[in-house]
Amino acid sequence: MLIKKINELREYISPYKSNNESIGLVPTMGALHNGHLSLIKAAKEKCDRVVVSVFVNPIQFGPNEDYNKYPRTLDADYELCSANGVDVVFSPSPAEMYGEGNILSNDNLTYVCPPFSYTDKLCGKSRIGHFDGVCTVVNKLFNIVQPDLAFFGEKDAQQLIIIKKMVKDLNIPIEIIGCPIVREDTGLALSSRNKYLTESGKNDALVLSKILQNIRKCYKQGITDIEYLKETAFSFLNNNNVELEYLEIYDSDSLECTKFANDNSRAFIACRVEGVRLIDNIKLGD
Ligand code: AMP
Repeated sequence: MLIKKINELREYISPYKSNNESIGLVPTMGALHNGHLSLIKAAKEKCDRVVVSVFVNPIQFGPNEDYNKYPRTLDADYELCSANGVDVVFSPSPAEMYGEGNILSNDNLTYVCPPFSYTDKLCGKSRIGHFDGVCTVVNKLFNIVQPDLAFFGEKDAQQLIIIKKMVKDLNIPIEIIGCPIVREDTGLALSSRNKYLTESGKNDALVLSKILQNIRKCYKQGITDIEYLKETAFSFLNNNNVELEYLEIYDSDSLECTKFANDNSRAFIACRVEGVRLIDNIKLGD
């Protein structure tokens, strides 16, 4: 079932709720790939009903980001969801979510803002306001769908950590399930933005996972000094086609910075390849 209106979505799922069926929500921006599919499969395993939202959220994009050109493939997304047992694909328009008007300069909306200590680093540093947009839309989706569980990928680890924090701080009665990163055989993490890359760009992009795997290998060999672990990346960064935005190692739950890594540390990387911003991460311990 494809639903575009909030009131129709509520009407459609209300019998599930009356029957005490558990509802799983998988929030996405569409252009679905096997990474999204892994979240859908996890939701199918744990919940009676699965709702997938497909919404390219304007308020989480900066003015110079790819909101307008972000891939939109709703027909194919709907087919994939139907073939995989999704009960409802919820794909509202921006006006349905935020009202009519110039949404990208909306100064008339209540935002949910995560703490600065979680957003002043990694993607939040260059994408000012991004996580306010993410938390606001996720909150709205939670209120619209009222799921019991919601599924997010570790691919966007900072986002997952911030959403868990939001749910805890605001006493939202939803269990957040984090799902492992799905990669191509080459190691490249699947992403809707990989669609922008040429074959040679995809090849250049392998450096992200190679750097992360090497950091994890060094950690396993006993190196814990974070500055030293980060320096191991330099030998991989000799390719002019890859522009490093950040490489950091923080705690997997609190995003705190320490001098030495432990099993709960996570290495995070962002690079630009052919103008496309790519992110990846890896936990250092098992
Ligand atoms: P997006 O459509 O990019 O906003 O992603 C929707 C959800 O899918 C987010 O929770 C992402 O973390 C997750 N996701 C995207 N790519 C992957 C991947 N390669 N492996 C696992 N989860 C992913």
